[in-house]
Amino acid sequence: MVYKSTFADQVIPDIDIYSFLMENNKHNAGPDGDNTIVSIDGHSDRTLTRGQVKDLSGRLGDGWINKVGLGKGDIVAVFAPNQYDHIVLYYSLLAAGCTITPGNPAYTEDEFHHQLSNSGAQTLITIPALLPVLLKVCEKIGLPRHRIFLFGDDQVDGCKPFNSLISQDPRRRVSTPLKGINAADDVAFICYSSGTTGVAKGVTLTHRNFVGQVLVNVNFDPVAIQEDDILIAFLPFYHIYGATVIMNGFYRGTPVVVMSRFDLEHFCQLIERHKVTFANIVPPVAVLLAKSPIVKKYDLSSIRNFGSGAAPLGHEHIEALKHQVPSEVRQGWGMTETTSGIIVQTMERNEPGSIGVLVSNNEAKIVDENDNELPDNSAGELLVRGVSIMKGYLNNDEANAKTFTQDGWMRTGDIAVFNSKTQQFYIVDRIKELIKYKGLQVAPAELEAILLGNDKVADCAVVGVYDAKEATEYPRAYVVLQTGHEGTSALAKELDAYVTEKVANHKKLRGGIRFVPAIPKSASGKILRKDIREWIKKEQQQA
Ligand code: AMP
Repeated sequence: MVYKSTFADQVIPDIDIYSFLMENNKHNAGPDGDNTIVSIDGHSDRTLTRGQVKDLSGRLGDGWINKVGLGKGDIVAVFAPNQYDHIVLYYSLLAAGCTITPGNPAYTEDEFHHQLSNSGAQTLITIPALLPVLLKVCEKIGLPRHRIFLFGDDQVDGCKPFNSLISQDPRRRVSTPLKGINAADDVAFICYSSGTTGVAKGVTLTHRNFVGQVLVNVNFDPVAIQEDDILIAFLPFYHIYGATVIMNGFYRGTPVVVMSRFDLEHFCQLIERHKVTFANIVPPVAVLLAKSPIVKKYDLSSIRNFGSGAAPLGHEHIEALKHQVPSEVRQGWGMTETTSGIIVQTMERNEPGSIGVLVSNNEAKIVDENDNELPDNSAGELLVRGVSIMKGYLNNDEANAKTFTQDGWMRTGDIAVFNSKTQQFYIVDRIKELIKYKGLQVAPAELEAILLGNDKVADCAVVGVYDAKEATEYPRAYVVLQTGHEGTSALAKELDAYVTEKVANHKKLRGGIRFVPAIPKSASGKILRKDIREWIKKEQQQA
């Protein structure tokens, strides 16, 4: 059965995302619409109004075009923790017609290298603290210093701050609507995700994907979204979840308090100080908020809603959070490949444990292993189609052929059920390889490739071990050693250190290393991850 949204479809205008966001709309068209503060630096209290963001992005956009020579088709990498002027940077690059590829600032040299070379980025924006590692990578791929720009006001090691490109003549600005952008085809962002299998791939998201995402979500649940909302954003702006929070906030003319990293005490201080009403979180943060005595030190009574996504949030955690911070806790489901959330709980349909209902302009179905549609109340793979679904993986026909069906449905790799009684979707399992540590992706294939690069490893498989208490998964490696080596704790430590030095912090083997005589494989040589998950289940039952 094909599920359609019960919400009326939005008319999606044929316009680029920059021009769409710069126009006033019913949410922010009041006389002072452009005086509304839309970004607050949670560290320095600096602010930006909607009008300032429009003005600065238009002038910086002109700088990118006329001083750097950027334009349509140019790919710009942005590797930085959240900044209060991230929004100006993103919009200025879109104004210049560029495609943005944002990445995790905690990456290692090899990880930066992968994204830069795979995306084809020829311009890079970062923070001074990351320059030492990024200069090394840029040298390797032949990206010159004059194509590296910095957040802030200082020139460092020959790299200029991008603020120095803002044209001083207010008439020199990009005018809207942008010319030459085909909204349905031209790519606004290339975000990295491993999808259902393999290593991180470039997810190409068009201007239309974003226009659709903003319109559909802002009109989805008017009761939950209120005109006087104040948001807080620690979710990384390099991830689709964080990037769409700032776009939606800007569209609505809603202040967003920006944190460069999550710190519970600071988060609570900022909620109290700025009277934050709506916080987008991930499950491990829900657990922290529910448990930590720090929360009790602050007045969080302004909070009306928590929106949780990126990984499953169990019933017991929702209840515990509501108990500690009286509020609505609503869950949503989305992927990088769906331009963030497309199945979301409403104020009315929010049965604990469900992921909610389809937003408009998107449809879903649940299928068996042979792609036959299943009826209500049956578990199968969730397939989705609609305005929010990516154009495809960058330069990767093989992955695209595996991910999309002939008639344009996208496979999610998640196992879902549509419950006829509650009329809501539930995620019950994941068939794809992906591991989620605190909402961040860990691709088993990447860790397996690293381990196989070690002389002592003959074979291996990496799987996620779910910790219900912390509401997160930990990557664990099962390792077969080359003959002549013994699976001692010293060797486990050695292999752990070997992986740790090659990966970003969230990919560390926090679930440990287990030595086994063989990795279960299918006749075609595919790792039977299901069998390994059974081992883990047994181990957890025995513990
Ligand atoms: P990402 O592309 O990093 O956003 O990861 C997308 C994946 O995260 C989904 O395919 C799911 O496996 C998982 N995910 C996201 N939201 C939820 C949720 N509410 N419940 C269960 N899994 C989720």
